[in-house]
Amino acid sequence: MDKKVYNCNICDSEIDIDNGDIVGYFGICKVAFCVWCLSSMTDMVIQLNGFNDITVLKERIKELKE
Ligand SMILES: [Zn+2]
Repeated sequence: MDKKVYNCNICDSEIDIDNGDIVGYFGICKVAFCVWCLSSMTDMVIQLNGFNDITVLKERIKELKE
């Protein structure tokens, strides 16, 4: 990883990859997220997909085994 300084695309805090912040790509767009925004986004995805619901999770596991 290069030493370029990145800022979180959401909260604009300085990215520190050594502390769990990430730099990557959304398609061809370079993005960077601090650990707090990444955690919030992960939680949002979990809630939007119902992955906090055991019935949904069991159904998903069944699909993955097929
Ligand atoms: Zn952030």
